[in-house]
Amino acid sequence: MQLVNLKDASEQVSFAQAVKQGLGRNQGLFFPTEIPSFDNIDELLAMPFVERSTKILSAFIGDELGEDTVADIVKDAFTFPAKVEQVNDKTYCLELFHGPTLAFKDFGGRFMAQCLARISDGAPITILTATSGDTGAAVAHAFHGLDNINVVILFPKGKISPLQQKLFTTLGDNIHTVAIESDFDACQAMVKHAFDDVDVREGLHLNSANSINISRLLAQVCYYFEAVAQLPEDKRSKAVFSVPSGNFGNLTAGMIAKVMGLPIKRFIAATNLNDTVPRYLKTGEWAPNATVATMSNAMDVSQPNNWPRIEALVERGYIDKAILRGESVDEEYTQLAMRQLLKEGYTSEPHAAIAYRAVSHDLNDDEVGVFLGTAHPAKFRETVENVLGTPLSLPKPLADCANQDSLEAELPADYEALKAHMIALLKGE
Ligand SMILES: *Cc1c(COP(=O)(O)O)cnc(C)c1O
Repeated sequence: MQLVNLKDASEQVSFAQAVKQGLGRNQGLFFPTEIPSFDNIDELLAMPFVERSTKILSAFIGDELGEDTVADIVKDAFTFPAKVEQVNDKTYCLELFHGPTLAFKDFGGRFMAQCLARISDGAPITILTATSGDTGAAVAHAFHGLDNINVVILFPKGKISPLQQKLFTTLGDNIHTVAIESDFDACQAMVKHAFDDVDVREGLHLNSANSINISRLLAQVCYYFEAVAQLPEDKRSKAVFSVPSGNFGNLTAGMIAKVMGLPIKRFIAATNLNDTVPRYLKTGEWAPNATVATMSNAMDVSQPNNWPRIEALVERGYIDKAILRGESVDEEYTQLAMRQLLKEGYTSEPHAAIAYRAVSHDLNDDEVGVFLGTAHPAKFRETVENVLGTPLSLPKPLADCANQDSLEAELPADYEALKAHMIALLKGE
């Protein structure tokens, strides 16, 4: 598989190189020079999840890693299901939260960890990543205990739910966590800064595991196929996917699935009050505002870092922008949507509820809506209990860490402080 740097077309790399590097020169994102497609979609949809995902991912990376290795990676990474639940006549939820950290990021995180472990062949690596909540947990669990890989995770102090935080700050060992006294965009900027700093990038063999890493995106393509496979056959070509979006990795993966031949009708980019993309789709003007804190905190992103890949899909003629609509949902309507879902007999959390709201009043007669359930409701227990007025029980992964000590360090939003911290932490080893 070949990938090109979207900011510098003279930089072309292999999949292995793109996974190791994360970002290209000038912080450019890597993008496949070719997107494979299937014409035998029905045959593909008839396969079990792991087998089908191996086929899909082999079409990208089989030439480089070998189909058997891809099969092993997929088997080790996708150890839990993606489930479609019907909510009402016209609407389904694609539940992506049945993995070890109860959010969709387990798919990408685990696939990336398994790829890296095989690609790096024992050479030391430092994973440096910023999280607005769920990436951190997924990455921490995916890499915990892997030899020669250290993980440093930055998160905005006080801006993610206490349970979310416990899921990754309690692991210890090769998992190092840092609370930054600022917001997620500041954490993301510090990560970018570190990658621009040759001393740190080369000295610590940096690798980013956030949603810019191409391996994570490829993994996420697979569950869109799984969603369509689980729909009743007469509805398979009628699906409108509503994607609760922050950095827009999930939506990018969905669009790649469509390019590969999956019959998705169109997409809705559902955001919270951080509405840079919905406004851009309406006005044509890219004008990020300051990030606002909301209940759906994993989507509190005003400068989504995967957006250039969606632009590239459009510019290269893979995707017609007309099949994408944006919708921003405010805090009041998020709560309303959670209550509406409960009336339908479905307990949800703010991120999925936003996607439900965006699709529920936007379906033609010949369409069905699929909104992505990106996290388990218990991950946002305080919010969900407050809004719905019903107590939630904790699933096992959360119950296990709820009473353990948090081990994070605390730093100001200052790159030099982070650099000193990382060098002290990792150089001595
Ligand atoms: C990360 C996350 C999102 C946003 O996904 P992107 O790929 O960054 O757009 C939505 N919901 C939850 C629960 C998340 O953790």
